[in-house]
Amino acid sequence: MRVLITGYEAAPFFKRGGLGDVLGSLPKVLWKIGIDARVVIPYYEEIREKYQSKKIGTFSVIFGKNIERIGIYKSYFPKNSKVPIYFLENKNLAVINTRGRNKKIDQFAFFDLCVAHFVLWSLTDGKWMPDLLHCNDWHTGLIPLILRKELKLSIPTLLTIHNLSYQGRGSIKVLDLLHVQDKDVKELKRGTPATEINILGEGILHTDAVSTVSPTYAREVVENSDHDPIHTFLLKRQKERGAKDEVFGILNGIDYEVWDPRHDGFLKEWYGLSDFRLGKAKNKAYLLSHLGLKNKPTFCFIGRMAHQKGLDTLMKVLPEIISLDVNIIFLGAGEKTVEASVIRAAGQYPSLIRAEFSYNERLAHHLYGGCDFILIPSHFEPCGLIQMIGMRYGTLPIASETGGLKDTIINGKNGFLFENGNKRQLLQTVTKALRVYKNSKAYTAMVRSAMETNFSWDKSALQYQALYEKIVVDYDHYGF
Ligand code: ADP
Repeated sequence: MRVLITGYEAAPFFKRGGLGDVLGSLPKVLWKIGIDARVVIPYYEEIREKYQSKKIGTFSVIFGKNIERIGIYKSYFPKNSKVPIYFLENKNLAVINTRGRNKKIDQFAFFDLCVAHFVLWSLTDGKWMPDLLHCNDWHTGLIPLILRKELKLSIPTLLTIHNLSYQGRGSIKVLDLLHVQDKDVKELKRGTPATEINILGEGILHTDAVSTVSPTYAREVVENSDHDPIHTFLLKRQKERGAKDEVFGILNGIDYEVWDPRHDGFLKEWYGLSDFRLGKAKNKAYLLSHLGLKNKPTFCFIGRMAHQKGLDTLMKVLPEIISLDVNIIFLGAGEKTVEASVIRAAGQYPSLIRAEFSYNERLAHHLYGGCDFILIPSHFEPCGLIQMIGMRYGTLPIASETGGLKDTIINGKNGFLFENGNKRQLLQTVTKALRVYKNSKAYTAMVRSAMETNFSWDKSALQYQALYEKIVVDYDHYGF
């Protein structure tokens, strides 16, 4: 089985969130079970500066009125892996944080066109033909359409939704840039308003299978989407393919080569199950002295500062939490209004709160290693990796009971859950967590249980293998 996986980020080459973790770890575990998995992402400047790669070819695409030349670079995932990664090089692909929604739509429509042509190149010049193309999130939502309708390439596709709140909605003008024929588009020109497209929705209609990143989120996507524009697309898909068509939910794992306190290159002190008390204490001392904080129970928040992450709930009870005499450290970047609420709080409690508004891999590792608890008040969480990483490092999660958080945390055993959006319950849960913290026996039992929980990819890799095989067989059989 040969699988080409694509998305806009892949760790460690380029990462801004959980999708990067997944594209950086899934291919490696697929190799271990005999799948020839490869990855293709844009060639960002950051990658060129930090990683070696070799130019192996070029091809051209027509985007709008321009003929664009694309360079293909090849490298391998680090740590002696044999897993290849390809970078597609063009100035229009290298843009990070594009402002303006239509600009972003154009950027990723162009990426999709390039990936589809890369498959064609790979088949001829590269002498490697994937049996299946695994697309991820809206950024890759146009690939199934372009492959089949424009390039007439017969390859089955899987589209994995990592986060439904990003759908790639914008002007239909992008279709002219792609030279897509009206007759080939299923819904793009019938959005509301009619001048709008929904790229994720179109991907859902054209792909051979749809999956998400946890069983609970798979159910939530289907059941709670009534008021979501994606609902129409899911209904239409089901109508076309029959009731048997389902949204598959496969839980993400974490990469133990990267996330393991026993050999994490960033940590001050390595530790495992037997010596976590001492190890965490040393990492905590280093972290707190580095940040100018006193030795107190320490909580952290790590993540994109988006509404999804639920900082509004936390802010409502922050004074009460702070009054319990604890430190809170925030690490994240994103929406300015969310950042502003954290800045205000940090200003009010300068001796107890620290906040860094950037993407900082090093600090993230130090927080996982040196904090006692990680706060995850997300309003929804398709899978969530920070709770798994936190648990691996013995940093107990205090999380809302939703999506993948619900699938991975056992309340009172390896972490704490509270009702989504319920500020009073959040405060009660923090108070309870501090009680446990002060009870050495109970705390040790919880940390051990958290550290022992298996978040490896082993089981999920087999589920992906089964799903890939099913898609290929169905494709050959029904010719979808
Ligand atoms: P999402 O995919 O919604 O961003 P996840 O919990 O699935 O959230 O994954 C987030 C990943 O990104 C984790 O590996 C986390 O450590 C990392 N991360 C998030 N924000 C930052 C940041 N500001 N600096 C460093 N790492 C971050």
